[in-house]
Amino acid sequence: MKKTNLKSLSRQELDQLIADIDEKSFRAGQIWSWIYQKNVTSFNRMSNISQSLRTKLDRMAFISSLKLIHKTVSLRSNTEKFLWELEDGFRIESVYIPEGKRRTLCISSQVGCGLQCRFCATGSMGFRRNLETEEITDQVLSTYREMGEKPTNIVVMGMGEPFLNFDNVLKALVIINHSDGLAIGHRKITISTAGIIPQLIRYMKESHPFRLAVSLNATTDAQRTRLMPINKKYPLHQLLQTARTYTQKTKKRITFEYVLFKGINDTQADANRLLKLLKGMPCKVNLIAYNPTANPFKTPDEDTIHHFAETIRPLCAPVTMRLSKGDDIQAACGQLAIANRRKKP
Ligand code: SF4
Repeated sequence: MKKTNLKSLSRQELDQLIADIDEKSFRAGQIWSWIYQKNVTSFNRMSNISQSLRTKLDRMAFISSLKLIHKTVSLRSNTEKFLWELEDGFRIESVYIPEGKRRTLCISSQVGCGLQCRFCATGSMGFRRNLETEEITDQVLSTYREMGEKPTNIVVMGMGEPFLNFDNVLKALVIINHSDGLAIGHRKITISTAGIIPQLIRYMKESHPFRLAVSLNATTDAQRTRLMPINKKYPLHQLLQTARTYTQKTKKRITFEYVLFKGINDTQADANRLLKLLKGMPCKVNLIAYNPTANPFKTPDEDTIHHFAETIRPLCAPVTMRLSKGDDIQAACGQLAIANRRKKP
């Protein structure tokens, strides 16, 4: 009999499994709490569960965890990058970013990515496979175990396009958010997309509560297609129209991520166009200075970044600026796992 990985189950599915083996319903709550609050991976440690049930569970189920291959600590910030190995030998990364009381964990949703954004190291790996639900939640649990502290915020902005692994990502986020487990509030969880319009519409229709970010990075179709080829399929104006509808229907704000590339999308004309495109939309703009990797793009100078931010300030939307943290450990957006990828053995 194939054993069930309990971390692949939603809370309702665990309730059902416990009912199916004729155990009392409260046992599901106990097991859930051992997995997601006490972070255990062995039935033997579940001390309030009878020996006979532990033996039964051992025969039919298991609790997965990720294998830590390497941890890199940034010398310039406290950012830490974790390289995990999956059951089939593929490797993924998560990035832990502490800032005051906030401990943000950036998690991956796929092995590699098929969208091939020109500035992204993950994109140049190509797509290998979607992560399973448990491989997504395990990035949170395994980092929690390593750091001894639970992350306070989760961003799905690591390797992969989360909306192309919609079901597994959303199931994992519901588990991470569950009040009897990790209990990370839905306002502290952000899912970031490169702009997969049909999934954005699905996300809106299904009324998911998590925060939404869109990686915008350009103000014309020509420019965006050059940076993000997915723009050919889902063009800028269509994407922004869908984003506008999302904010109207859900009454929620969207965050637009805008990575500034020297001489490409950081000019006065770009800032003016961005101002016009986002006018009247409840949103937040996150300006990020690009971190140079092996590709030809360059970082704008600080004056240009400040000037860009000043120009779009009339949006009345909060504008945040950051130089990517962890650039010395290739932990910035789009730099994950390229140096450590391993093909399926
Ligand atoms: S930036 Fe994101 S969506 Fe684009 S290729 Fe990289 S991982 Fe994929």
